[in-house]
Amino acid sequence: MFHDISENLKKIQYNICEAKARYRNESDVVKLMAVTKTVPYDRINYAISQGVDLLGENRVQEYLEKKDNYDKSADVHFIGHLQSNKVKYIADSVKCIHSVDSFKLALEIDRIAASKGIDMDILIEVNIGGEDSKSGALTDEVYGLISEISALKNVKIKGLMTIPPRERSEFYFDKMNILFSDIKSRRINNVSMDVLSMGMSGDYVEAIKHGSNIVRIGSALFGARK
Ligand SMILES: *Cc1c(COP(=O)(O)O)cnc(C)c1O
Repeated sequence: MFHDISENLKKIQYNICEAKARYRNESDVVKLMAVTKTVPYDRINYAISQGVDLLGENRVQEYLEKKDNYDKSADVHFIGHLQSNKVKYIADSVKCIHSVDSFKLALEIDRIAASKGIDMDILIEVNIGGEDSKSGALTDEVYGLISEISALKNVKIKGLMTIPPRERSEFYFDKMNILFSDIKSRRINNVSMDVLSMGMSGDYVEAIKHGSNIVRIGSALFGARK
């Protein structure tokens, strides 16, 4: 019934393998995240039955409406713009928040996580192209933001996330990779640079070439969104 999804998934897995073989070390892991916005839960569960084990959620409301129907064997990460007052609704069920771009948001995540006695993994979202239309911390702000957030006890910075400008995305993926490596080399207390989340349906091969280890894929897997 959802034959399109298994065909798409095979193609994507093949492309990821090929990009890894061409550009990366054999031991590198590149994780495929299925981005679920607008996709009905039965299609999501079918993707999980075909081997997807990581979901990416954009919208709090939509996620809350669908999540009880999800097959629980997949982990869920939050990747969309997040308002501080919504953190409490997702903190129990997501493993990582990719879209942290302010101290205010990190502080609220820390507060909620502490109240639940958990640690929350987060990524810093970087607006690598400095575009007005996008969220994310500007490159200049990233070091200051990481240093501030690293003092919080129940928030663990695990890496960086970006959506690059459409034009010259490879240039920006490379820029992200350089930033990622530089932050990693500083060995900041309470900060580990393990995850570089970048690449979507149209550009994941280029992202893998430049160091991505989570590619976030929606339309190439589930079909065009309406
Ligand atoms: C929608 C979305 C994606 C996936 O986009 P596609 O082009 O459909 O693969 C990835 N990351 C974020 C943050 C998104 O909002």
